[in-house]
Amino acid sequence: MGARRLNASAAQGREAVLAAPGVVSLRVMIVRRRNPDATHEVAGPATVADVLAQLGINPETVLVIRDGELMTRDRELPDDAEIEVRSVISGGAGPRAPQCQVCGRAVVIEIPRHRAAFCAEHLVDHIRGQVRHAIDRHGMLSYDDRVLVAVSGGKDSLALWDVLLDMGYHDGLYLGLGIGDYSQRSEQVVSDFAERRGVTLHAIDLATEFGYSIPDATGVKDRSACGVCGLSKRYVFNKVALDHGYDVMATGHNLDDEAAQLLGNVLRWQTPFMARQSPALAASGGLAKKVKPLYRVGEREMAAYCIVRGLDYIVEECPLVGGNTVHHYKDALNELERHFPGTKAQFLYGFLDKVRDQHFASEADEGNDDGVVACGECGMPTAPPKGKAAHNGDSVRCAFCRTQQRVLSVVSTVR
Ligand code: SF4
Ligand SMILES: [Zn+2]
Ligand SMILES: [Zn+2]
Repeated sequence: MGARRLNASAAQGREAVLAAPGVVSLRVMIVRRRNPDATHEVAGPATVADVLAQLGINPETVLVIRDGELMTRDRELPDDAEIEVRSVISGGAGPRAPQCQVCGRAVVIEIPRHRAAFCAEHLVDHIRGQVRHAIDRHGMLSYDDRVLVAVSGGKDSLALWDVLLDMGYHDGLYLGLGIGDYSQRSEQVVSDFAERRGVTLHAIDLATEFGYSIPDATGVKDRSACGVCGLSKRYVFNKVALDHGYDVMATGHNLDDEAAQLLGNVLRWQTPFMARQSPALAASGGLAKKVKPLYRVGEREMAAYCIVRGLDYIVEECPLVGGNTVHHYKDALNELERHFPGTKAQFLYGFLDKVRDQHFASEADEGNDDGVVACGECGMPTAPPKGKAAHNGDSVRCAFCRTQQRVLSVVSTVR
């Protein structure tokens, strides 16, 4: 028997039959998928790899969890097992490595691009080591820096906060986007974390502070909700960092995010964006320094880190994610990674080490202080429109203020 999808009531019925005393076992595994949610029955016993193959799931994109424990691809599952297959959007796979390469204990995750596998304890060490390596290599943080971590409630930013907390950087920033239950749950996850760890959380609500939420932006012509969301985040993160005297703004962009962003930029030859794609951007022209300490860690590893560290993160995707093209690039890279482990890292690191500075240094410089003026409306730094001299700054409005006005005009029309 192959894999068969159950609807919710059928799945509940199956559970009831399996649980009933005296009833002969139906000898099927129950596989619950998260994000997107679905329930399947699969013939067993089988290895994790076989189950994923039967369901047509790319192992690069998921973690498999049984009774709160991570299952590697070689683990044999009994015919009455119940497992959760949790999408992490992307990830890695490769040669079998059944023992932790550090201590020889049972592994919870393989990381094929490193030809490595780790137990829970050494996975945490590995990720902390990768973050330290990134910080040192790019001079991201010093001991004296006041650092603000942007935290969305997703696995990457919560894990980043957790790692940086252990290094002595405590403060977080949450931006409420007003996306219904998704935003409510995200805020709850972030504020629970801050309360448990006793750390400072700046919580800003977009609608309260700026008059619109991200769903309002779906009505704006020629601008996607994700585009408005990204612009709003960049603006608010920078503003809060400057207003509160932080030296550095840290975000949870991981290896998959950065490789996908690069692929999108290369495919459209967006050279100005390529010039500014870096794990660390120095402060310039009224913009706070920005760093991405997770750029060397895949998002599958970050999800595993959260599970072994017991961090509750929001598994669900943002309901507006359909408008986000980056996911298509992630899918393409994951397919390559499945066949050629290490592709994503080679693509990104090769660009950073051999291409960016050598070929885009002059374009990157254009974003520095010289061309920047104050927005006539909000006072934040912005590049003057082409053809206008910098000293005409009073009449210049930044991209955020222009976009805010467009969204507000849609909101007032609808209301
Ligand atoms: S999917 Fe789009 S709208 Fe949702 S949080 Fe991400 S960028 Fe914002
Ligand atoms: Zn170990
Ligand atoms: Zn402005």
